Amino acid sequence: SRPDLDLAALVRTIPDFPKPGILFRDITTLISDAAGFSESVRRLSERASVYRPDLIVAVEARGFLFGAAMASAMGLGLVPVRKAGKLPGVTVGVDYELEYGTDRLELHEGAVAQGHRVVLVDDLLATGGTILAAAELMRNVGAEVAAAMFVIELPDLGGSKRLSAAGLACETLIA
Ligand code: IMP
Repeated sequence: SRPDLDLAALVRTIPDFPKPGILFRDITTLISDAAGFSESVRRLSERASVYRPDLIVAVEARGFLFGAAMASAMGLGLVPVRKAGKLPGVTVGVDYELEYGTDRLELHEGAVAQGHRVVLVDDLLATGGTILAAAELMRNVGAEVAAAMFVIELPDLGGSKRLSAAGLACETLIA
């Protein structure tokens, strides 16, 4: 374990991606660094274990990278929440608002048992729209969302305030 390791220094910021004016936080440089990746997963897992989850639920696509490693480290199963049309089995879904238009997240029917406590994982918290949609999906199938975990938060976009207003505990490694 490397409690001194500066994870923020391993995240790269790329201007004008995917659109002009957006400063994209790129975690590929964090996960290609052996110590950076393992320490990120260690810190996320340590914080997630406090919530005693039954299962890790990771959000497509970068959430899979961290969620998968956490689930394995914590000895838990992993359930993916995906964009519309990607999961092969029968799904349940939720539509949510984007800045322009709407999007849809889906989950395999029966993938999360009723009453199970889940920890949601994504790479980054911006407005909170994505994770709140994933949390709604969990509630719709009778699961309990114990907390949501992120590597990065963009505090100016108000995501953590929205999550706390919704009663969703949230943990971030880098703000
Ligand atoms: P939100 O729904 O506004 O909170 O946006 C978070 C979602 O968009 C997450 O699934 C992120 O992976 C993605 N996202 C938004 N901005 C960035 C960024 O700068 N870097 C990486 N992912 C981002």
